[in-house]
Amino acid sequence: MSTNQATAGASAPDAKPATKPGGPSRIPAPRVLPEAMPFWEAAKDGRLLVKRCEDCGETHYYPRDICPHCMSASTEWLESKGLGMVYSFSTMGKEEARYTLAYVSLDEGVTMLTNLVDCDAAALSIGQRVKVVFKPSEGGYPVPMFAPA
Ligand SMILES: [Zn+2]
Repeated sequence: MSTNQATAGASAPDAKPATKPGGPSRIPAPRVLPEAMPFWEAAKDGRLLVKRCEDCGETHYYPRDICPHCMSASTEWLESKGLGMVYSFSTMGKEEARYTLAYVSLDEGVTMLTNLVDCDAAALSIGQRVKVVFKPSEGGYPVPMFAPA
């Protein structure tokens, strides 16, 4: 619980948009809910976790204490291999400010709203295999994004 500042998100007086070429120009610190803390702690080690229900067996994302499929409170953490495929994507902005939002379906059965990075946006396609990469955020936990596998 030492990094609880990530929840607050406050104390960031810098409002200047710093643009860096190649990828999302700014990655704001993620808002970390207590029930998702293990997810973000694992992200620091480059590991991607999803939740699986011990009652119905379904996986879900974003991580919650209560299974969204059957409302069971018996959920466990499952380490994802970090591999999946592009379900849909949309590239926005131009030049250095260009970034690509995507839904990525993990092999473990969950779909994440994320960014596609480290790639040529023009060469992306639906169904393409991707793997997770963790990108540093501004003063918070690393954020899982995806690059061509
Ligand atoms: Zn369930």
